[in-house]
Amino acid sequence: MSVLQVQDLVTNFKTAKGTVTAVQHVSFSLERGETLCIVGESGCGKSITALSIMGLLAQNAQIPNGSVLFNGTDLLKLSADDMRKIRGNEISMIFQEPMTALNPVFTVGFQLREPLMLHQRLSKREAHEKGIELLKKVGIPAAEKRMNQYPHELSGGMRQRVMIAMALACNPKLLIADEPTTALDVTIQAQILDLLNDLKQEFDTSIIMITHDMGVVAEIADRVIVMYAGQIIEQGTTEEIFTNPQHPYTKGLLASVPNVDDEEFELKPIPGSLPNLHEKITGCKFRPRCTYAVEACKVNEPPVYEQSQSHTVKCWLQEV
Ligand code: SF4
Ligand code: MG
Repeated sequence: MSVLQVQDLVTNFKTAKGTVTAVQHVSFSLERGETLCIVGESGCGKSITALSIMGLLAQNAQIPNGSVLFNGTDLLKLSADDMRKIRGNEISMIFQEPMTALNPVFTVGFQLREPLMLHQRLSKREAHEKGIELLKKVGIPAAEKRMNQYPHELSGGMRQRVMIAMALACNPKLLIADEPTTALDVTIQAQILDLLNDLKQEFDTSIIMITHDMGVVAEIADRVIVMYAGQIIEQGTTEEIFTNPQHPYTKGLLASVPNVDDEEFELKPIPGSLPNLHEKITGCKFRPRCTYAVEACKVNEPPVYEQSQSHTVKCWLQEV
């Protein structure tokens, strides 16, 4: 059985200008020990998908349709209390900016001990020992000393490691990481990705990694979902996506990856921008930016075509 099965998820937001749909009929699954990357430009619905799974949406959000089966339990049907018990215990999340997730008024030690005492019922002493062990595991030197420090006393890279240590404290079955390395420099970024890979091996954790960086995807993903304007437009194994991309948007994302070995590399961003969610686009949502668009793209939304059992593409070009 899959660890996670998201089926036909729809997430709406009520705004002053009316209701907008940020996630449109998204379905995917995740196996044990698998790393799935969700990619796309900022605003494409990746973070909202993650927050929908975690039950952390803003007040004005609604999920009118879909299910999120976590080991067979539909998270969307759980009470806020039951969801809180799962969050930080069986499912953890790492955010882009650790300062928003770490509490500035408590020491690192306090914040590491708390979930262990709450969810794992460890004594304060035991939780402290486990906290030190976790800091060592994520490569933080002088772990004993760090336990007594406050978040602002640590560098950005160190804070991100503390967040990962906190996220792993209760050996979660699922770790959702939203752009965890975006704010970090390249060296620290590579170290954190290595660390996530190691931890996955050790604990068999399933990981959903949200990123707009195809370099990160190449580094860490087993499978890839490409999102555009709230929809999954291509899905496949990392190899399928990198060696045989089918959707024009995916091709554009890959073309924008600089080849760092090439001294004259050039960044080629995809021209245009994501549609405003209030904008009504008939047919394919990528049409205004697509250089391959044909007449059919204007009229009807493209269906999902199967390239292989693991590779799907939502584009009319698959028809021919
Ligand atoms: Fe481009 Fe048409 Fe494919 Fe959309 S369906 S990506 S507009 S070719
Ligand atoms: Mg985001």
